[in-house]
Amino acid sequence: MKDLKRTRIKELLQSEDFDRKVLIKGWIRTKRGNKNIAFIAVNDGSTINNIQAVVDVHSFDEELLKKATTGASLEISGTLAQSSGQGQSVEIQADNIFIYGEADPETYPLQKKGHSMEFLREIAHLRFRTNTFGAVFRIRHALTFAIHKYFHEKGFFNIHSPIITSSDAEGAGEMFRVTTLDPVNPPLNEKKEVDFSEDFFARPTNLTVSGQLEAELGALALGGVYTFGPTFRAENSNTPRHLAEFWMIEPEVAFNDINDNMDLAEEFLKYLIKYALENCKDDIEFLNKMVDKELLNTLNHVNESVFIRLGYTEAIEILEKADQKFEFPVKWGIDLQSEHERYLVEKHFKKPVILSDYPKDIKAFYMKQNDDGKTVRAMDVLFPRIGEIIGGSQREEIMEKLLGRIREMNLPEKDLWWFLDTRRYGSVVHSGFGLGFERLMLFVTGMSNIRDVIPFPRTPRNAEF
Ligand code: ATP
Ligand code: MN
Repeated sequence: MKDLKRTRIKELLQSEDFDRKVLIKGWIRTKRGNKNIAFIAVNDGSTINNIQAVVDVHSFDEELLKKATTGASLEISGTLAQSSGQGQSVEIQADNIFIYGEADPETYPLQKKGHSMEFLREIAHLRFRTNTFGAVFRIRHALTFAIHKYFHEKGFFNIHSPIITSSDAEGAGEMFRVTTLDPVNPPLNEKKEVDFSEDFFARPTNLTVSGQLEAELGALALGGVYTFGPTFRAENSNTPRHLAEFWMIEPEVAFNDINDNMDLAEEFLKYLIKYALENCKDDIEFLNKMVDKELLNTLNHVNESVFIRLGYTEAIEILEKADQKFEFPVKWGIDLQSEHERYLVEKHFKKPVILSDYPKDIKAFYMKQNDDGKTVRAMDVLFPRIGEIIGGSQREEIMEKLLGRIREMNLPEKDLWWFLDTRRYGSVVHSGFGLGFERLMLFVTGMSNIRDVIPFPRTPRNAEF
């Protein structure tokens, strides 16, 4: 059997071509049986489902079978057969077993099932090997692929916006400084401040909080563009929905107004949910059984819903009349908290909501100003269980208006000269939004903590793996 090639378990489980010799490689999930026959369930990561190898104990070396414990890596060759066992269609009647790496049952942390999410976070280097995290990360891949596929098919271009940036005008939160200066003895200027002209980039630089400003530059030449990259926020928010390092998808489209922007956001989200339902069926069904019994219902419901479109001012009126006490009191002008967003989506409308026209004072400088002088053409998409999943807006394309806002907000006009050039030359109406990839992942997987939908979460005081 030397020239037998390895087949992925996913493929074998769908095969009906029995009685042929096959070879699998993977890790043992369970071994059970009696003194005559052993059943070894093997997983190779290609699917949530294991394949079962049936082992005639007397034809194998006893020492070898002893090493075949949960977590050990191995290859098995044998005959593919129709299974008589319950819940599986296919099995392998083993001829040969070779153990690559043992996993000492005394110390292997995943010897038993049923660990808490908190415990698994402490062994993030091994949690890939559990059913739940296997499912989550296969879905993460599928959604990544679907995002590129969606935009590619719509004629958008992917832009790689910089990760290190010197623009801190976004005002989206605290930033992480990037520097090669000696923290103990940094060079100082006459005013005894750190002299960043001696730093690597000869200016202060940070990790980006958003690729939007750069995406706008691309959109005003390429038409429709999107970024999909890591973003960083040094805010000390220890919630199940915030990471210090998260991935964001930011489309930006020339000639789109806020209504086009809402249409794009709704179509895009539904496309991704549908893609996951169609292409990650086994994983989603597993999560529906083990993690959130309402998952499939919620995904299907959102997919079939027409999203509610509502102004901020009307939303405040609804919240003021709500028969619910909020921790943060409601009045016109407040930034909505997740409790308010979830009330609108889960209790009042029972559908996703696209909220627009927020007070200008709680939104960024670049948003299109409405004629009322009080609100801007911002739009947030609010989802059940998540709250804000998308934040976006039509952008202010008129030079004087944009400059007015920059000055009102005391932003560094001089540093934004390159951004302002887009309004100086060939300016057009344009719009875009940011989708938090891990918030989407939370929604699609039914997981409840954002730390469990990214392989190695970065949160305050946590960056070990
Ligand atoms: P929030 O109010 O929920 O903190 P935000 O309004 O600060 O979010 P935006 O600046 O609008 O967020 O970012 C766009 C999107 O990125 C959000 O709609 C959300 O999906 C996601 N996002 C923002 N901050 C985080 C974070 N710290 N961790 C994970 N995702 C985030
Ligand atoms: Mn937002």
